[in-house]
Amino acid sequence: MRELSFSSDDHLFGLYIAGAHLENLLWLCERSGGHETGGVLVGRYTDAHNCAVVTAISGPSSDSYRGKTTFYRGTRGLQLWLDRLWRSKHHYYLGEWHYHPHASAIPSLIDIRQMEAISNSLQYNCPEPVLLIIGGHVSAWEARAFVCPRTNGAIEMQRRVDGVAIDAFGIDEHRDELPNLRHQHERGNLARRAASECRQDQGG
Ligand SMILES: [Zn+2]
Repeated sequence: MRELSFSSDDHLFGLYIAGAHLENLLWLCERSGGHETGGVLVGRYTDAHNCAVVTAISGPSSDSYRGKTTFYRGTRGLQLWLDRLWRSKHHYYLGEWHYHPHASAIPSLIDIRQMEAISNSLQYNCPEPVLLIIGGHVSAWEARAFVCPRTNGAIEMQRRVDGVAIDAFGIDEHRDELPNLRHQHERGNLARRAASECRQDQGG
């Protein structure tokens, strides 16, 4: 499956998700039963610090709330998962993702407010969190990505293929492959320590 790549118009911010992680993400959307779902994005920044590369995603923790048009990501188990990824790979919290079933991937005001709260949170200590929203349904989905720098509001990043901006809407030609994916059962939440290490890493 094709990967997802986004960058801001000024190329200061970006997000990259390899095809295997995108498959996993769409599989979580497909099994959500028409309810919103989501989780966190974990990974690292490129050496130039202008692109967040996703290396792991979580699904909704068991204490998440999943409504038809509402999603509250819980925290149960997330810290342990983040700690393990930090210890084993030095990968850290990058941001959030969630799914708007049968709706556009445009963030709600609540979505934006939540990201602003994360970017300003001492606990998260991650001043440029990214937000990925999947909209539509699994065979005809769209993806939009945003970065929320502290004090700067939300900036939409454009989806790009081979460096060229394209429309956010995508048809998934590999839908039949989705059900065989395994799901990581590590769930969880925001890691205070990993998030602060994230910032140290980004600042280097
Ligand atoms: Zn939303």
